Amino acid sequence: MADATSEAGCMFCRIARGELGTPFVAESEHAVAFRDLSPQAPTHVLVVPRKHIAALRAVGEDDAPIVAGVMALAVEVARREGLLDGGGYRVVTNDGADAGQTVFHLHVHVLGGHQLAAMG
Ligand code: AMP
Ligand code: ZN
Repeated sequence: MADATSEAGCMFCRIARGELGTPFVAESEHAVAFRDLSPQAPTHVLVVPRKHIAALRAVGEDDAPIVAGVMALAVEVARREGLLDGGGYRVVTNDGADAGQTVFHLHVHVLGGHQLAAMG
């Protein structure tokens, strides 16, 4: 069924395929990176795998190269945004309702450019 939580209705799949014209900050074999619509920091970029994976919990053993590709592209985004030579950055993924996941296609948030709130 093509709803917002299925692959058929998935907005991030459509973005990754280039169907929505969203500019990519960076891209690689396994992942694409684009700016969050509602930025929570001066740099707030989402890195998403080209393959539809609903959340971190749905990552399979065969997906290891994809997850590595997502993390590598997150570092590349940080490098391009000047965060490696600056104050650093944070990479976060939300899995499930308590974490506030709203888009059910695996993504990591790359956040930086100012002092981030301490966690925990
Ligand atoms: P999460 O709460 O981890 O599921 O985060 C989903 C994020 O996707 C939110 O920060 C939204 O602002 C962002 N978002 C939703 N739709 C889009 C879109 N079309 N382009 C860019 N960012 C989006
Ligand atoms: Zn998807």
